[in-house]
Amino acid sequence: MKKTADTWSINEAKNIYGISRWGNGYFDIGDSGDIHVIPRHDQPNLKINLAEVVEDIASAGIQFPAVVRFHDILRSQVELLNTTFRQTIAEANYQGQYFGVFPVKVNQMREVIEEIVDAGSSFNYGLEAGSKPELIAALAYNTNKDSLTILNGYKDEEYLRLALLGLKIERNIIIVIEKFSELTTLIALSKELGIKPVIGIRVKMMVKGRGKWEHSSGERAKFGLSMTEILNAISLLKAEDLIDCVKLLHFHIGSQLTDIRAIKEAVQEASLIYCQLIKQAVPLEYVDVGGGLAVDYDGSQSTNDSSCNYNLAEYVADIVYGFGQNCQLAGVPQPHLVSESGRAITAHHSCVITKVIGEIRPGNTDYATEPAQGEHIIVTNIRALADELAAPNKGTNLQEIFNDVEQLKSQAMQAFNLGILSLDELAKVETLYWRILNHIETQLQQSDYIPEELNAISALLSSQYLANFSVFQSAADSWAIDQVLPVMPISRLNEKPTKLCSLVDITCDSDGKIDKFIGDDEVAAHLPLHSLNENQDYFISIFLTGAYQDVMGDMHNLFGRVNEVHIFSDDDDPKDFYIEEVVKGSSIENVLSTMQYTPAIMAQMVKKEIDKQIAAGNLKPREGVNLIDFYDNCLLSYTYLN
Ligand SMILES: *Cc1c(COP(=O)(O)O)cnc(C)c1O
Repeated sequence: MKKTADTWSINEAKNIYGISRWGNGYFDIGDSGDIHVIPRHDQPNLKINLAEVVEDIASAGIQFPAVVRFHDILRSQVELLNTTFRQTIAEANYQGQYFGVFPVKVNQMREVIEEIVDAGSSFNYGLEAGSKPELIAALAYNTNKDSLTILNGYKDEEYLRLALLGLKIERNIIIVIEKFSELTTLIALSKELGIKPVIGIRVKMMVKGRGKWEHSSGERAKFGLSMTEILNAISLLKAEDLIDCVKLLHFHIGSQLTDIRAIKEAVQEASLIYCQLIKQAVPLEYVDVGGGLAVDYDGSQSTNDSSCNYNLAEYVADIVYGFGQNCQLAGVPQPHLVSESGRAITAHHSCVITKVIGEIRPGNTDYATEPAQGEHIIVTNIRALADELAAPNKGTNLQEIFNDVEQLKSQAMQAFNLGILSLDELAKVETLYWRILNHIETQLQQSDYIPEELNAISALLSSQYLANFSVFQSAADSWAIDQVLPVMPISRLNEKPTKLCSLVDITCDSDGKIDKFIGDDEVAAHLPLHSLNENQDYFISIFLTGAYQDVMGDMHNLFGRVNEVHIFSDDDDPKDFYIEEVVKGSSIENVLSTMQYTPAIMAQMVKKEIDKQIAAGNLKPREGVNLIDFYDNCLLSYTYLN
C-alpha cells in the first residue's frame, strides 16, 4: 500500500479494492467517492448511491448491521443466466432447450425465492429442493406449470409422498434418485397411489471437481448411483414396467468449481453416459448439470478457492457445445439442459453493512520515557535508537534499527520475567519500541524501495477496526472455510486510505474477525481503510453475501438475524431507489426464546430480586420501577450494539 506521492484518485481506490474485478458490473465508485450500485446492465444510467441507501436506512430508524438486498440484481442475474443459455443454444443449433432451476438451499428467504420465480417466469425457470422443508416451499412457490421442480437430497417415504402430491397439482416434478433404496420405496408408493412418477438418476461421477467442494464427486461421494447401481436400477425399472418414467440424468460435482477443466471433463463424462443410456432404451429427455458455477469473489480470475478461471459465457458454451457434439457423434437426440446454479444467481444481490465503532491500536506511545538514575542498560539502549531515528544521520540504517529494536524488546521481556527489569522500565521499553516502529514506517513511506523484512512493520502496526456485526451470523464462510469476501468502505473513496486494518466483530470469540482480504496477487491479511473521524460515521460493507452467507449464520453469542432492507430501483425516483420492505432482525427476546427461555418469566424473576432490594431499603421504589422497565425494554431491543 505504499505510495510515494500524496495524490489519490478514484481509480486507485477501484484498483486496491478490486471493485470492477469482483463486481460483475453491478458496483462502481462515483466521483463523490461513494459506492454506486448499477443493478441493471441494460440501464447503465440507473445508479444507486450506497451512501444514500445507508442514510435512508438510518433515517427510517433501522439499526445497523443491516443486510441490504438489491432485488434488481437478483433479477438481472436470473435473466443473464437464462439468456446466455438461450443465445448459446441458438448459436450452436442445439436441439434441446434450457430449463434452469434455482436451488432453494442457497438462499431460502421467501422474498428471494419470490423474486427469482417471478424474474424467471418468462424463461420457465424453476426450483430445486433438497429437503422436505424446501420441497414444501417449492410446492407453494413454484407456480409456473411449465418450469421444473427438481428434487434432490435423501428422501424418506414422506418426502416421496409430498413429491407425488406435487404431480397431482400438475407440477413438473422430477424425483432424482440419490440412493438405490429410494427407488424401491418410490416404486412401492407409486403402485399404492397409482401415480407414475417422473424419475431422475443422479450419477456418481468419476471426474473430480476442483476447489473446496471437490469431494462431492468420485467413488466416495455421498450422493448418487455408481454405474453398476444405475444398470441395476434400469433392469428393475424395466421389470416393473416403469422405464418410461426415467426422464433425467443428474450430476453435481461440487460447488464453486474454480477450474473450467473440471466442467469440461464432467460434461464429457456425463454426455457419454447419457448416450450409452439412450442406446439402452432409457427414454431420457433432460440432463441436469447441477450447480458449481463459481463466483469470482476475489476478482483474480484464477483457480484460487475464492475465484474461478472462467466466466458465465464460457461455462454455458462448454455445456451446450459439449453435449451437442457428443450427442451428434453418437447419433442420439440432444437432451434439454438443466442447471442448478445457486451461488452465481444470488451472491451479488446482497451485502452486509456495518459501522466501525472503534479502533484497537497496537502499542501505546504516551508513557513518560525520560532517563532515570540507575536504569537498566536495555532501556538506555532502546532510547538511544529512538534518538537516532529522531535525528537520523547518513549512517542510519532502518533495517538495522528494526533488527536491534526487536532484539532489545525480547531481551526486555526476558529480563522482566527474571525480575531484573521493573514494570516501569518495561513500560518505557514498550513505549519506545512502538515509537520507533512508527518512526520507521513514516520514513519508509517516503522511500521508493522497502526491504522485504521491513514489510513486517506495517503488519505489526496495523489496527484492528471493531465493527458492529458477527462473522458467525453474517459471513459464516469467512470463518468456516477461509472464504474471501470483498470488504470495503462505502464512502470516502476519493480520500486515500491511510491505515492497514483487520476487522474484528463484537462476539467474545477471538475467531470473530475477518483477516483475509483481496490483495495484490494473493490473499492479504490487512485491508487499507481510512482513519476514523470524530462525528463522522464510518460504514463498511461486506459484499457478495447473497449465497449461503445470508442463511447459514448461527447464533453465536446470541447475536441473531440482522435487520434486512429490500431495495428496488426506480428510474423516476430522484435517488433511483426506494426501500420496499424492512424485515426486522432478531430482538433479544427472540433469540432467548429460541434457546428455550421465557422472557416474561425472566422479567418476573428479576422483578422479584428488585422488590427484595426495595423491601430491604437498598433501592427506592421509583428506582426499582425504572430498573425493571429498563430490563423489559432491553428484551425488546436489537441484539447488536446501539
Ligand atoms: C448445493 C447444490 C447446488 C447449488 O450449487 P451452487 O454451486 O451454489 O450453484 C446445486 N445442486 C445440488 C445438488 C447441490 O447440492
